[in-house]
Amino acid sequence: MSDLRELYQETILDHSKRPKNFGKLEGATHHAEGYNPLCGDRVEVFVALDGERLADIRFLGQGCAISTASASLMTETLKGKTLTEALALFEKLHDVVTGQEHHPKAGASEPELGKLAVLEGVKQYPLRVKCATLAWHALKNAVTGKTEDVAVTE
Ligand code: ZN
Repeated sequence: MSDLRELYQETILDHSKRPKNFGKLEGATHHAEGYNPLCGDRVEVFVALDGERLADIRFLGQGCAISTASASLMTETLKGKTLTEALALFEKLHDVVTGQEHHPKAGASEPELGKLAVLEGVKQYPLRVKCATLAWHALKNAVTGKTEDVAVTE
């Protein structure tokens, strides 16, 4: 188990030091900012939607290792996915990091976390949950049209 934990920590550190898809997305159709006052994390998420599909997704921001790694993993995981898939993954990730059982919507299949599973360890640290979900809240605001609002995690 400790090997697995080390691997998870390595992945998080790696993504926080060398985040994927970091930078402004020219031609973004949607964007939104997020701010986590508890930790001081800031993130701005840019999305280029092609119909229902997330054709491209990038982010900017500054924050702790968890928030940056989560945003980086999010962009990697969601590129090419549909909005429905993206929001279903957010719901599952949210349940996983808050230590809740996940129940997919009726008729929907259980989304695969894939690499996002490395964030599961966050459930041991309730204060870190907001760091791990900040970029996702911003993404949700961006694609649901709340582009003028800054997502502040409660
Ligand atoms: Zn943080």
